[in-house]
Amino acid sequence: MKNIAVIGAGTMGNGIAHVFAQHEFKVTLIDVSGSQLDKAIKTIGNNLDRQVAKGSLNEEQKTRTLSNIVTRQTIAEGVAHADLVVEAATENLDLKKEIFRQVNEAAPAASILASNTSSISITTIAACTSRPEKVIGMHFMNPVPVMKLVEVINGYSTDANTTATIVELSRALGKVPCVVNDYPGFIANRILMPMINEAIFSLYEGVAGVEDIDTIFKLGMAHPMGPLQLADFIGLDVCLSILQVLQQGFGNPRYAPCPLLVNMVNAGFKGVKTGEGFYKYTAGSKDLVVSERFR
Ligand code: NAD
Repeated sequence: MKNIAVIGAGTMGNGIAHVFAQHEFKVTLIDVSGSQLDKAIKTIGNNLDRQVAKGSLNEEQKTRTLSNIVTRQTIAEGVAHADLVVEAATENLDLKKEIFRQVNEAAPAASILASNTSSISITTIAACTSRPEKVIGMHFMNPVPVMKLVEVINGYSTDANTTATIVELSRALGKVPCVVNDYPGFIANRILMPMINEAIFSLYEGVAGVEDIDTIFKLGMAHPMGPLQLADFIGLDVCLSILQVLQQGFGNPRYAPCPLLVNMVNAGFKGVKTGEGFYKYTAGSKDLVVSERFR
């Protein structure tokens, strides 16, 4: 494995590109949006500066990491020489199916096709390709350069060689892989999202306020962030779409998203990325000020 193509240069794609490039892989970062690619390279530069300031990386390593990344705006061009493609585009089934069809056409026959999806079926995506045995989930956590876990998801047809390659590769990136099977939400989001949804229901029903709900989890369960802050950080639209996948996949109304979450997403209040969710992020993502709507 040498050449990695990362599709989608948003929150996750820039982090995935950063980590592969830092570990001496050649990365092609692909996005339909040129401005998103520019923003991603800037974000990677800023995050590398932070690593240098902390002493975990030196200037030369930073320069080398940046020089390992090139950007492209089309999939055909970007994946042509990839040993591994990691798709991290918007969480939408039809979009991912279309991307995997295109990637299957353009990437070398031997390459592995991975998706960073939070909840969409790997089996369904794999069925859009002529190589379902080489399709797998490689679910990084946010922020990618910091978080150690990679949830590796075996689709129905994924073969053992593909899994072993991705497990080994995750370790080479300094991550800890956990292998799970392809059922809705896998493990991480099957357990996390119902908790976040219940926190939003508790707020909606007036059981407690934003700060109290989050403080209970921070101090009572030693979580680094409360569930509402975490939802803002993940993106409320991402949380909503994962809950919809759980609800549909299991056919069980207990996963139905809280109406408050639906309203917030429809109104454009998606958390950190839009500047407001349960908290208002006027002074950056770390300064926690409860949105006046919930005071
Ligand atoms: P995002 O909205 O920040 O970025 C998505 C990017 O995909 C955008 O830059 C968009 O321009 C690009 N894109 C859309 N269509 C494309 C196409 N056809 N070709 C190339 N690029 C295209 O989303 P994100 O939060 O980075 O999530 C990406 C994936 O990672 C999703 O599947 C999500 O479920 C998953 N994920 C997200 C998180 C999280 O905390 N945000 C965590 C783990 C996994």
